[in-house]
Amino acid sequence: MKYNGNKYSNKRNIPSIIKAIQQETADSNMTIEFENIMVSMFASVLLFLASIANFVIRYIVQSQNLKVCLFNTLLFLFIGIAFEVVTRMGLRANLVTLIISGLSFSTLIYITIAFYDVIGPAIWTVAFIQLLMAMIRITKVMMYSLVLAIIMSNIYILYHSLHSPFFHMGSVYYIVQIVLFMIVCIISAVVHNVNANRYHWVNKQYTELMEKNKLIISSKKQIKHLAYHDYLTGLPNRMALSEKLNHSILLSSNMKKMLVVMFLDLDDFKIVNDTMGHDIGDQLLIEVSKRLVNTLHKCDTVARIGGDEFIILVEDIKDMNYIDIISKKILNCLNEPFRLNNQDCFVTTSIGVAIYPNDGENPEELIKNADIAMYKAKGKDKNQYEICTPTLKMKIVETVEMNNSLCQALERNEFELYYQPQLSCNSNEIVGLEALIRWNHPKLGMVYPLEFIPIAEQTNLIISIGEWVLRTACKQNKMWQDSGLPRIRIGVNVSAKQFQNSNLVKDVEGIIRETGLDYKYLELEITESAAMKGKDNIIKTLRVFKKMGIHIAIDDFGTEYSSLNYLRQLPADSIKIPMTFIQGIGVNNKDEAITKAIIILAKNMGLSVIAEGVEKKNQLDFLNQGMCDEIQGFYYFKPMPVHEVEILLKKSL
Ligand code: C2E
Ligand code: CA
Repeated sequence: MKYNGNKYSNKRNIPSIIKAIQQETADSNMTIEFENIMVSMFASVLLFLASIANFVIRYIVQSQNLKVCLFNTLLFLFIGIAFEVVTRMGLRANLVTLIISGLSFSTLIYITIAFYDVIGPAIWTVAFIQLLMAMIRITKVMMYSLVLAIIMSNIYILYHSLHSPFFHMGSVYYIVQIVLFMIVCIISAVVHNVNANRYHWVNKQYTELMEKNKLIISSKKQIKHLAYHDYLTGLPNRMALSEKLNHSILLSSNMKKMLVVMFLDLDDFKIVNDTMGHDIGDQLLIEVSKRLVNTLHKCDTVARIGGDEFIILVEDIKDMNYIDIISKKILNCLNEPFRLNNQDCFVTTSIGVAIYPNDGENPEELIKNADIAMYKAKGKDKNQYEICTPTLKMKIVETVEMNNSLCQALERNEFELYYQPQLSCNSNEIVGLEALIRWNHPKLGMVYPLEFIPIAEQTNLIISIGEWVLRTACKQNKMWQDSGLPRIRIGVNVSAKQFQNSNLVKDVEGIIRETGLDYKYLELEITESAAMKGKDNIIKTLRVFKKMGIHIAIDDFGTEYSSLNYLRQLPADSIKIPMTFIQGIGVNNKDEAITKAIIILAKNMGLSVIAEGVEKKNQLDFLNQGMCDEIQGFYYFKPMPVHEVEILLKKSL
């Protein structure tokens, strides 16, 4: 017979079921112990009464031998005490049950023998009561021992009733007694079975659920680990860092101490990923994290919060010197090359430092300010650290303000295009104009592109600004051409972000069609670094432009990582030598050598060369001698507004 477990199978959650089963099991275990105590109590009381009854009946009523009477009385008392002692010895419940069963068995046989001559066959009622009690017991041993005792005492009663001079039991009476015993035995067995099954079922369920619970606990632990750790390096992640930082801030504020948040960003990690593959990139991140952890103290926290960005939390900072020491230690620990895939990989990092409480009172603010300082460090040079300052924070506030007003600048028509002429070295004639954007800020006055273009690039505003520049420049050129002014090329700067816009080709095509300018009078200028960023995609787009007949110029050539192989693939028409090299002419031999080399390289590749930022006669002479094609610079003209260009172009007619 199975115990009905519906109680646990309805829609209760696992913890509540476990709780119920734990309770049930505890109850069951208690039942065995409780039953043992009850049986012992019952037996010891019974034996105490039996000892008194024995003495009274045998000695006082029947005047039997005192020694025999006392022996029986003491024996009953002794067994009664034995029952009590067994339950109090702290033995295992099952062992106690076994001993009690043995004692009950012997007591029953002994009572039958001892009182048969006093009570006669009715002595079996004692066993009967015992048996009724045994049927609710969980362990079988007590029941078996009682049944055995009943059988044996019945054999004794039968034997004695046949030979006793006092009691003669009729066979009907005897048969009724046997049948009654059998019925009680069967009922006892059934009731006992139900009880025992229930107990075992509960135990089994409990064990199974405990196993499940263990699994749940271990997967919960795993989930928690994943939620708080970086999958790649095993370091704490942003969430764990935030919690830790909150806690550390609280401690530092109570103890009036400083704590430091360092924002680390690996320099040129993208190049490692692009050139060596993402697997090596991942390996590098793991190795870097190991070095950081080994370099810092155990009490410092190193977390990875994204790509190649790590945050280090150092508590209990005594003075500013300590920050310098730790920062240098971190920079130094990355000096040694990393051996990855049998190659030495060199890596540097830029660190931004924010200090609690000066640079923020919560994790977000501290991380943000450390990030700001890190950008400043990256801007300075590679492998540097920078501590956050009020000026730095002010600059960011300004940037945010500028960004807000940038959003409205287009609608408010605050942008204006200036044009800087480009002259042919041979004819000294204007052969092109570069469109350069200016922002007429209502409060700040004229703002130059280097101040706002990087912000516009960060916020993607550059897409709509770029479109406006292109439309305005093409329209203007077409207007000049239509008004009879010389048909010259107009150069428009296109930033890398604009190339990420999948509609760029369509937009350019649309604007050209809309303005009616011939493709050949448009030049798109893209910086070498921008062209390097999205290599394949940019080359594809540039090829489409080139096919349309648009002129392509590579701006600032040679300032970044020039790859000759890459240059070979670029569908360019001209190269622009940056101002930094031109201004080194007559000052620095190396700049002169580079300028010459760029011209020779371009010529050999069939590209024309424009020198930018020419301010002096000696620079012009040097370039003329070197066979440069075109010149752009203050020596001839500065960037100028529309009406000034018009005057100039009219003059040139
Ligand atoms: P760039 O493309 O290298 O433009 C040339 C910059 O050099 C211009 O600065 C120009 O005024 C300056 N320049 C030219 N000749 C001389 C010279 O002889 N001496 C000196 N000191 N400077 C000279 P500007 O107008 O401030 O533009 C700075 C940069 O802003 C540009 O560098 C270009 O990268 C970016 N930019 C300008 N307009 C746009 C635009 O419409 N779109 C995008 N994406 N970027 C633009
Ligand atoms: Ca340019």
